[in-house]
Amino acid sequence: MSKYSSRRHDVLAAAKSWSVRGTPQQLTADINSIFGEHTFNMEVMREKLPKEVFQSLLATIDKGQPLDPKLADVVALAMKEWAVEHGATHFTHWFQPLTGLTAEKHDSFVTPNVGGGAVAKFSGKDLIQGEPDASSFPSGGIRATFEARGYTAWDPTSPAFIIKNHHGATLSIPTAFASWTGEALDHKIPLLRSMEALSQQALRALRLFDGLHANVHKVYTTVGSEQEYFLIDEEFFYRRPDLVTTGRTLFGAKPPRGQELEDHYFGSIPERVLAYMTDVEYQSYRLGVPVKTRHNEVAPGQYEIAPIFENSNIAADHQQIMMQIMKNTARKYGLVCLLHEKPFAGINGSGKHNNWSMSTDTGMNLLEPGETPHDNMQFLFFCAAVIKAVDNYQDLLRASVASAANDHRLGANEAPPAIISIFLGEQLTDIFNQIEKGKPESSKSKDLLGLGTPVLPHLPRHAGDRNRTSPFAFTGNKFEFRAVGASQSISFPNTVLNTIVAAAIDELTGAVEANLKAKMPFEQALHAVLKDVISKHKRIVFNGDNYTAEWHQEAEKRGLFNLRNTLAAVERLHDPKTMKLFEKYRVLNERELEARAEIFFDQYFKTVNIEAETSAMMAQTMILPAAIRYLHDLATTVNAIKQGGVHPAGVVQTLSEVSNLVDEFKSALDRLLEVNADLGGDTVHEKAYHMRDKVLPAMNAVRAAAAKLEKALPDDHWPLPVYSEMLFVK
Ligand code: ADP
Ligand code: MG
Repeated sequence: MSKYSSRRHDVLAAAKSWSVRGTPQQLTADINSIFGEHTFNMEVMREKLPKEVFQSLLATIDKGQPLDPKLADVVALAMKEWAVEHGATHFTHWFQPLTGLTAEKHDSFVTPNVGGGAVAKFSGKDLIQGEPDASSFPSGGIRATFEARGYTAWDPTSPAFIIKNHHGATLSIPTAFASWTGEALDHKIPLLRSMEALSQQALRALRLFDGLHANVHKVYTTVGSEQEYFLIDEEFFYRRPDLVTTGRTLFGAKPPRGQELEDHYFGSIPERVLAYMTDVEYQSYRLGVPVKTRHNEVAPGQYEIAPIFENSNIAADHQQIMMQIMKNTARKYGLVCLLHEKPFAGINGSGKHNNWSMSTDTGMNLLEPGETPHDNMQFLFFCAAVIKAVDNYQDLLRASVASAANDHRLGANEAPPAIISIFLGEQLTDIFNQIEKGKPESSKSKDLLGLGTPVLPHLPRHAGDRNRTSPFAFTGNKFEFRAVGASQSISFPNTVLNTIVAAAIDELTGAVEANLKAKMPFEQALHAVLKDVISKHKRIVFNGDNYTAEWHQEAEKRGLFNLRNTLAAVERLHDPKTMKLFEKYRVLNERELEARAEIFFDQYFKTVNIEAETSAMMAQTMILPAAIRYLHDLATTVNAIKQGGVHPAGVVQTLSEVSNLVDEFKSALDRLLEVNADLGGDTVHEKAYHMRDKVLPAMNAVRAAAAKLEKALPDDHWPLPVYSEMLFVK
């Protein structure tokens, strides 16, 4: 046994003999019987609330009518009773501060009485408004610390839910979070505002088409996000300070086997992982999160879970709940769930494909190509609006998914590149080409075009093939924005998407209206507008392979943005055009937008800074000592052999090679320590640029030198679990 008695081997043994902690929750066949049972949903409200109160609340939830504050006491009472029946002792206003995570502060239902005893207290005011001392949430300068007041406000459109744990249960009330000046300090408020903006514009557009839509009162944006994640054994996780502190491995040589066999994707799901997945699903169903799909992803150890789409606000809340469940449940199975965008270098990272569409309150999907010619025209109109929106605001979309973590993923030939373009598929592209030429003839689809004639054909549901490389793909009856990162809140990307499409619909509707006013027949008026859109914005359409170097050149020729990293992208938030957009549609005012830009910079700087400190610490206290011990072993061996009268040529050579690697490693480490020594300036901007331009390259150099050592050092000297263990031991 080596004197370094491989700790790693003990870890492997521990990982092999995992066991379940607590009670595994398996799905019963009848999902209906548990679905939503821990939510204060429509059925419960109908049952527990007086009829008038229920009707009035419904008007708020379904039609967006203002909430009647008088109802609050009645709703609060019913909600509390229901929560207590489910074992809740506490309640919390659950909100989404600009950290991108969720926040909660628990209050007990029970208030002690003066003179002994206690009363249960939860009034309408407790339900509607909370007042967390919120000075430690990022506000990007909106709220000075001396104005610590922040308010949380009940969002009646997202059902309250109960979170159970070993020690009891808590009633969680989805809320918005604002400063005392009324500015949004969270991701929910702008999302709701953007949904409202889109609804108004889409309703206006729908009125163009015909009177059929008289019964439509609201248009919702819908989102279904496919969540990718890694699971690794917790024994490995705790031996890796980088994973514990930063969520990703800062060291790790490429394993002999990675994902090249392509045998993991859709492969059969390992037993332990399946047990985990069903447990996650069980808990999600109880909270009304409609998860549907599960499968292995491309990388070893990587999986995906996808819910059925819902209205964006609820989908965003559910996304957060789901990530929480995923992380918590992993521990029960001796696993850790990694949501980082790039936990393992050289192995696919994790994203969150954001499937997006618009739907009327009568259930009509506005991006459904549809059965009838008339609907097709309407479809083409909304589709054109998305094309225009994405082209006009490529930079903003890119900025909406910017983070230090996602930078490792975007453009690494596994995820969409940082260049935003649209995949339309052959058939739709063909239709738009014909619209541009204005010629109704087409060999591909003869009587497709017409807009002048009422005969537009039925488009197949899945027009064209799939394109996995596009950042923004039309997939049958929705667009899929694939650049969103796995750990990210989907709220901001959807806020951006809703706002830019609202703006495009607004402009296109205005243009059609103007043509109509000039006495053009409707179909001609519409055709002229669509033609204009496609001739101006076709540069954004690209159906080819987004990973190729040719596309990068081509995109440059077309004048598309290539915002390679977070800072380049986030600078675009300062563009006057961006400001105007958000102000016009009342989604973010200038201060709110500035605050978000500031937080992007701040988070970027802090993330990289923490990584760099962790990297230096591990290099100095784990890797360098291991390498030096090996040098010592080798040197001792050389001397011992020489004393035996033999020239140990091979050992001497090994000694010299390893010594060179140590020199290389040490000088890279010195450089890292040097750039870590200061932050590059006083402002958050200076610090962020210092991180990007000085610190990240220094970290990468240390990592590269460490990878060489990892391959040269004896297995029992290497102090960290290696990629092949973390990815393949299940
Ligand atoms: P894929 O082909 O990408 O696997 P799926 O049909 O399985 O596509 O759907 C992926 C996601 O898209 C799911 O979450 C699904 O609910 C969602 N989705 C489907 N239709 C819509 C829509 N109209 N709006 C938003 N999301 C949708
Ligand atoms: Mg998909």
